[in-house]
Amino acid sequence: MRTFSTIIASSTPIGRYLISRLSLRRSHAISVKPQASTPPMAAADASNEESLRRTLAEKQSAVDAQGNAVRALKAAKASKSEIDAAIESLNRLKLEKSSVERELQSVVSGSGGGASVNREAFRQTVFNTLERRLFFIPSFKIYRGVAGLYDYGPPGCAVKSNVLAFWRQHFVLEEDMLEVDCPCVTPEAVLKASGHVEKFTDLMVKDEKMGTCYRADHLLKDFCNEKLEKDLSLYAEKAAELRHLLAVLDDLSAEELGAKIKEYGITAPDTKNPLSDPYPFNLMFQTSIGPSGLIPGYMRPETAQGIFVNFKDLYYYNGNKLPFAAAQIGQAFRNEISPRQGLLRVREFTLAEIEHFVDPQDKSHPKFSEVANLEFLMFPREEQMSGKSAKRIPLGEAVSKGIVNNETLGYFIGRVYLFLTCLGIDKERLRFRQHLANEMAHYAADCWDAEIECSYGWIECVGIADRSAYDLHAHTEKSGVALVAQEKFSEPREVEKLVIAPVKKELGLAFKGSQKNVVEALEAMNEKEAMEMKAALESKGEVEFYVCTLGKNVCIKKNMLLISKEKKKEHQRVFTPSVIEPSFGIGRIIYCLYEHSFYTRPSKAGDEQLNVFRFPPLVAPIKCTVFPLVQNQQYEEVAKVISTLLKVAGISHKIDITGTSIGKRYARTDELGVPFAITVDSTSSVTIRERDSKDQIRVSVDEAASVIKAVTDGQTKWEDVWSSYPHHSSESADA
Ligand code: AMP
Repeated sequence: MRTFSTIIASSTPIGRYLISRLSLRRSHAISVKPQASTPPMAAADASNEESLRRTLAEKQSAVDAQGNAVRALKAAKASKSEIDAAIESLNRLKLEKSSVERELQSVVSGSGGGASVNREAFRQTVFNTLERRLFFIPSFKIYRGVAGLYDYGPPGCAVKSNVLAFWRQHFVLEEDMLEVDCPCVTPEAVLKASGHVEKFTDLMVKDEKMGTCYRADHLLKDFCNEKLEKDLSLYAEKAAELRHLLAVLDDLSAEELGAKIKEYGITAPDTKNPLSDPYPFNLMFQTSIGPSGLIPGYMRPETAQGIFVNFKDLYYYNGNKLPFAAAQIGQAFRNEISPRQGLLRVREFTLAEIEHFVDPQDKSHPKFSEVANLEFLMFPREEQMSGKSAKRIPLGEAVSKGIVNNETLGYFIGRVYLFLTCLGIDKERLRFRQHLANEMAHYAADCWDAEIECSYGWIECVGIADRSAYDLHAHTEKSGVALVAQEKFSEPREVEKLVIAPVKKELGLAFKGSQKNVVEALEAMNEKEAMEMKAALESKGEVEFYVCTLGKNVCIKKNMLLISKEKKKEHQRVFTPSVIEPSFGIGRIIYCLYEHSFYTRPSKAGDEQLNVFRFPPLVAPIKCTVFPLVQNQQYEEVAKVISTLLKVAGISHKIDITGTSIGKRYARTDELGVPFAITVDSTSSVTIRERDSKDQIRVSVDEAASVIKAVTDGQTKWEDVWSSYPHHSSESADA
C-alpha cells in the first residue's frame, strides 16, 4: 500500500492490524485471573478494602502514639495506676487494630482468608490423582521431564478423544463445516504475512547472573498480588496504585514494565539477583525445512492460518457460497517463557479452531433462534469497567441490545455454552467475558472469551472473536492471490468507480527505470488518497508522492495521470469475507473438567476419603467395568460373555477379575470416573451400579450390555433405568 505520507509497516492498515492482533492474541492467551485485563476485585470490595486500609493506618498511628505515651509515663516514673491505665488503653487499641487487620485479611484473600489455601489443597489432590492414575504423565519423565510438556496417559487419551469426538459432532457435523488437517511445520512466509514472525512475542527479563528467564508481566503481577494480599500495612493509595497496575498490565510497553520492575525493586524470584530490562521474545519454535537449512519455517502457534491460506479452494469446494465454516483440530506450539499453572500453560497443546466466513454486510444466522433463549453468565465490558459482576442475560437480549455485536457471533457463543456444559463444565463456574476496548484489535468487531473458574481463577478456555476481514486481507496482500468472495446480482447495478489512469509515456520520461514502481504506487491509492491528489494537482499542478518500494518521494505532475470517477454497470460484488473464529484450547477445557468433576466421599468405614470423578458418560474414559463378584470360573465366563457383547456394542470397558474386594474395585474405578459397573454375582442375572448414587439394579445377563449402551449413548437416563428394573441392595458392596 502506498500513500502520500511516509509509510512504515505499522502505519499501514495491515501493519496496524498485525500489531494489534498479535498483542491481543498474547494478552488473551495468558489471561488467567486475577488478571491484567479484568479488574481483580469488584468495586465494592475495593472501596471496602481502601477504607479498611485507612482505618488500619489510623489504628497503627494510635497504637504507636499510645506506646510512646506508656514509655514516657514509665520514664517519668508516673504512678502505677496511671501506667496501668495507659497500658490498658494501649492493649485496647492493639485489639482494635488486630480486628481491623483480620477483616482486611479476609477481604484481600477472598472469602474468609483460607480460600486460597483450600484451593491449593484441592488442586494438589486433583493433580496427584490425575498423575497417579495416568491421566497425564510429565513428558520425558525418566530424563527429569521438560517444563510445559505433558503426555496424556491411557485415561487422559480416552477423555481427550471423547471430547474431540463430541466437538466434531457438535460443531463440524451439526454445522456442515469443512474440516481440514494442515501441517504443523509452516514456512516463514505464511507466518510473516500473518504477523507472527514480527509480533508473536512476550516480554522477557533475565536473571543477570544466572541467565534464567522470566515473563516480565508475570513478575510484576505476582509482586502486586502478593503485596495486596500479604502486606496489610500497605497504604490505601499504594494499594489503589497496584490494583490499577494490574488492570493495565497488558497495555504496558517494555519500557514501562522495566521502569516498574526497577521502581519496586523486583529481583529474580529464585536467586534475588538483579534482572535485565524487558525485551520481546518470540514464542514460536523455529525450524528449517529440508536438509539445506535454507528454508526457514516454524512450528505453527495456531491452526487458523492453515484455514486462511486454503480459503480459495474451500470457497470453491463450497460451491462459491457464503457463509461457510472450516474447522481444524491440531497441535499448536508456543515456547512459553516460564510455563506455570500445570496443565493450563503448556508448550505444545491441541487447538480446535473454527473459521466461519460470512458476508460483512450480513452477519445474521439462520439458526440463531435455536440459542436465543439460553441464559447464562455474561460479563459485558460495561460491567467490568464499573466493577460489577457477571450477570445472567438471555442471549437473544444480548444480541438485540447490541451487547453482542451480531447474530453469528451470538450463535457461536450459545453453541460454545452448550458444548461446554454438555461435557460437564459447571454452569455456575462458566462465564462469557467480553474483551475490554484496550484488549481488542482496532479492526475486531467484538470478542468474547469463555472463561471457566477453577482453582487457578477464571481461565480463558475458548476465544470467540469477530475478526472482520483482516486475516484474508493480510494473506491476499502478501501472497498476491485474491482471497475474496463474490455476490452475483440478479440485475446489474450501477456503481460509481474510481479510475486512476497513469500516462505511462510521461511517467517513463520522468522516472525511467523506476516507472513501474511509481505506476504501481499510484494505482494502489484508495479513493480518499486519489481524490486528494486530484485536488492538489488541479490547484498546484504537481505534488510530492511517497513511493514505498523506492523509499523516497517523487514529484507527480498534472500530465502524468488522470483521476476520475465513472459510472459503471456491475454484475457482481467482490468482497473479502469477515471471519468469526471460535478457538478452543482443548487441554484447558479438559483440565477444568477434571476439577469440576472431582469430589471425595468418605469410605464406608469412615477412615479414608475416596476420590471420584463424576464425568458424564459422554466424557468418561471407560464407560463400564465388569467384575465377577468372587473368583469363580462360572462368573468369569459370564463376565467374558458380557465383555464380548459390550465390544460388539462399541462400549469401552474393563474386566477386573482380581480377587480384590468388590468395594476396593468400585473405589478404583470411581477414581477413573467410570460411570457404571456390572457385577456378576450369578450366572443368570447381574447388577449394574451407578457411580455417584451407588444405586444398583438387577438385569439379566443378556440385557446388561444393551442397558449400558442405552445409558452411555444418552438414549435413556439412569433415573429411567432405575425406575424400570428391580433394585438391588448390597450392604457390603462399597469400600
Ligand atoms: P489464542 O490464540 O492465544 O487466543 O489461544 C486460543 C486458545 O488456546 C485459548 O483460548 C486457550 O484455551 C489455548 N491456549 C493458549 N495458550 C495456551 C498454552 N500455552 N497452553 C495451553 N492452552 C493454551
